Amino acid sequence: MNELDILAFGAHPDDVELGIAGIISKAVQKGLKVGIIDLTQGEMSTRGTIEERKKEAEEASNILGTMVRENLCLKDSEIQNTPEQRISVIKVIRKYRPKIILGTMFDDRHPDHHNAHFLIKEANYFSGLYKIETEHKPYRCQTLLFYYPYYEVKPPTFIIDISESFDIKINALQAYRSQFFNPNYFGNQTFISSERFWHSVRDRCAYWGGKINTSYAETVYTIEPVNLTPLIPLG
Ligand SMILES: [Zn+2]
Repeated sequence: MNELDILAFGAHPDDVELGIAGIISKAVQKGLKVGIIDLTQGEMSTRGTIEERKKEAEEASNILGTMVRENLCLKDSEIQNTPEQRISVIKVIRKYRPKIILGTMFDDRHPDHHNAHFLIKEANYFSGLYKIETEHKPYRCQTLLFYYPYYEVKPPTFIIDISESFDIKINALQAYRSQFFNPNYFGNQTFISSERFWHSVRDRCAYWGGKINTSYAETVYTIEPVNLTPLIPLG
């Protein structure tokens, strides 16, 4: 498998789309090679089966134009920064050797998103150690960015214009028929399946777009010094 420019991690299928689908689509349009890794199958969700969610994620990936989407099949609601779970993450970091890693930010309301932050950050560090042996050789990404799937808890580091890819973000999210507002889907209502939450997706992107005088934007965070060069195509 060829190396990727961007590898985006979500705790559950749809996390990446909620937080940064516009950035992903923009990167693809700029010719960057992008992959998505879902840590779990989302099997603890109130709505949707594993099979439904797998199909939805595949459809969303096709809409976004990613080259790769893999699921590490960690246990939903049990994401922890353990040596066993880190090895799963290290394997895909070494396999795809991304120039940019995107992961979930800490202090998110969902504990899996919070825990995935530390799992991804530490796996990337340990991925550089030669004495941890896996199929592929050691590699450590120097540009780690983080995002919030639902809403910003802290002021972001960067605001990225996604006006040109916002419609594609919405299309990708609509692929998740079991998860978001959908009057035709039978099931219990959840935080993210409400009509109010669906409107908040557009409101959120418009709010951050307004901060940089564009129509729509998404946000990312750095928590340590990063190599800026891989980010230039996204500016
Ligand atoms: Zn999630």
